Parts: sequence; structure tokens; C-alpha cells
Amino acid sequence: AEQLVLRSEKLSVLGELAAGIAHEIRNPLTSLKGFTALLEEGETEPNKKTYISVIKSEIDRIEYTVNELMMLAKPKKAEMMPYKIEELVHSVCEFLKPEFTMKNVELSCNSHHPSAEVLCEGNQIKQVVMNVLKNAVEAMDRGGRIHISYLYEEKKMAIIVKDDGPGMSEEVLKKIDTPFFTTKQTGNGLGIPMCHNIMKLHHGEMKISSVLGAGTTVELVLPY
Ligand code: ADP
Ligand code: MG
Repeated sequence: AEQLVLRSEKLSVLGELAAGIAHEIRNPLTSLKGFTALLEEGETEPNKKTYISVIKSEIDRIEYTVNELMMLAKPKKAEMMPYKIEELVHSVCEFLKPEFTMKNVELSCNSHHPSAEVLCEGNQIKQVVMNVLKNAVEAMDRGGRIHISYLYEEKKMAIIVKDDGPGMSEEVLKKIDTPFFTTKQTGNGLGIPMCHNIMKLHHGEMKISSVLGAGTTVELVLPY
């Protein structure tokens, strides 16, 4: 009997996943169909440029979702190499700087041990840091602060990202590990599950704590 319960639970999880994927791809597809039809109708359509840019961004959205799904399903076999971890985080910060500035978010960083090396798959860890930072920025619609710090112990280290955004309720916090759970209009809810997966592959972990109204802290722990 227990086996049957397990099996039906698995099937319902699968069903939810499938529904999530379908939804995530159908939305941009609907808009792609609409805008290509508009382009077809009017050769000299003055809004052509706008339509094309919408089409491009919808294609990007599908690509982004598919990439995260791939990372969730079967991340490429990790090619572990020693990376200067603080440099790696810094490069992600540089990449996101325009977005921070635009959204009035102040980023500060306590470099602690700049030459410390961590064995990891650089691009995957970058992706994790990127999602954590993006989540922080996306949570703050009136600007705010993000602080990055590092902690080193004998056998592990942590990248700590603290924001003073709106935080999360207990209810939201409980659901954030579920694929496709999102509170955003254009979120896909795959970021945190993907981060967990990547951290697990690195024998590390991601710990999230949050206080409603006060902010969120994400700790990325890696063997060191
Ligand atoms: P997405 O970013 O596409 O919504 P994620 O899995 O990255 O998916 O995040 C899931 C949800 O967790 C978000 O929709 C948001 O509600 C919540 N969340 C994550 N990080 C933060 C944060 N720093 N502050 C507030 N809420 C957050
Ligand atoms: Mg996200």
C-alpha cells in the first residue's frame, strides 16, 4: 500500500511539473502567435519594430525557461575547477550593475579572502549567484540595499547575500522550493529549485531565511 501511495504522489508531482512547463511555454507562444500575425497583416506596419522586439523577448523567455529546466533535469556533468570564488561573485555583480542602478539598489561587498579558491563548476555557481541577486533586486520595487559577505571555516565557506527588501511570509517561504512557484508576473519559479540542485551537485547547500518586512538572507555553502 505504501508503494502505491508513493507512486501516486510521484504521478501527481509529475502532473504538476508538466502543467507548469506547459504554462510557462504556452504564454510566450500565445504572444508570439499574436505578434507574428500582426506582422503578417501589415507589411508597412509602423509598429513593426516594437512587435519584433516583443517577439525577441518572448523567444528569450522561452529560452531562459528551457535552460533552467535543463539545469533542473540534468545539469551538464560538472567540470570542477578551482575558482577564486570572490572574483566569480564580483563578475556577476559587475554584470548586474546596470540593473541595480536602474532599480536604485545599492550593492556593497565585504571582500574577505580574495585569493580563496573553491573547487566548482564556475558557470553553474555564477548562475546560482545570479538568481539569488536577481531575486533580491526583483523583490525591491522601491530600491534598497544588498550586502554580500563571506565566511570561511576549516572545511567549508559561505557566500552570504543579505537584502533589506520586503522579505517573505512563512507561507511563501514554505513554497519557494517547489518548481514553478512564483509570486511574480513574469517569474517562472524555477530559480530556487535550480539553485538547490546545483548546490547539491557541489555537495553544498543553499539556506534561505527571511523576515517579513525586514529582508532576506541567502547563504550559499560550499566545501572549501
Ligand atoms: P522566480 O524568481 O522566477 O519567481 P525563484 O524560484 O527564483 O522564482 O523564486 C521563487 C519566489 O521566492 C519568488 O517569486 C519570490 O516570491 C520569493 N523570493 C525569492 N527570493 C526573494 C527575496 N530575496 N525577497 C523576497 N522574496 C523572494
Ligand atoms: Mg528567480
